[in-house]
Amino acid sequence: MSAYKLILLPADPWCPPVNCEQLAGELQTIGLIGEPVALEDNVFFPTGDNFLQLISFLGCSPMIELDPPADRATLLAASAAGKFCHLFLNCTASLAFRADSQCPPPRCPNCRQPAPDWQTAIETWQRNTAQSDWICNNCGFTGQLTDLSFRKTAGFGRTFIEIRGIYPSEAVPAAALLGTLQHLTNEPWKTIYIKE
Ligand SMILES: [Zn+2]
Repeated sequence: MSAYKLILLPADPWCPPVNCEQLAGELQTIGLIGEPVALEDNVFFPTGDNFLQLISFLGCSPMIELDPPADRATLLAASAAGKFCHLFLNCTASLAFRADSQCPPPRCPNCRQPAPDWQTAIETWQRNTAQSDWICNNCGFTGQLTDLSFRKTAGFGRTFIEIRGIYPSEAVPAAALLGTLQHLTNEPWKTIYIKE
């Protein structure tokens, strides 16, 4: 089962890891998230009191479900399918790659041509992170996989704020939220929209 997700991550893939407890504390202080709820072997955060001030939904009064199902038996399936807005914080020591299942080919940062072999290169890197080089077949540009331009459908990082239940481009983070995150890492953050 997959869910639509809005994911916030530092714009620079090489931003140092963020302490997840500190991140959760900051997000609770500004009211993006509530108290953690155990779910199988994971923990999710329901939306906080200021969620709708910190995440701006676009368009005319969308149907936004913020409350988790009261029925514990359906909670797991509802979470996996993104049936309601709730958050996960993913903080990893090593670099991770998150992408939409229908992610279009990224573009070369030099010639802007699509990289048709990108999935093979990512899989090779995921098996052996030392193999992170990428060479453009079109212009010969030599760099790293992290140089590829994925726009808003994929990203590399160590820290991901995952909001389930938001369709692509249905909502954007408000300036106040981006300001809090930038203050935390001394770097700007970006938004991607994926289904995974
Ligand atoms: Zn190129």
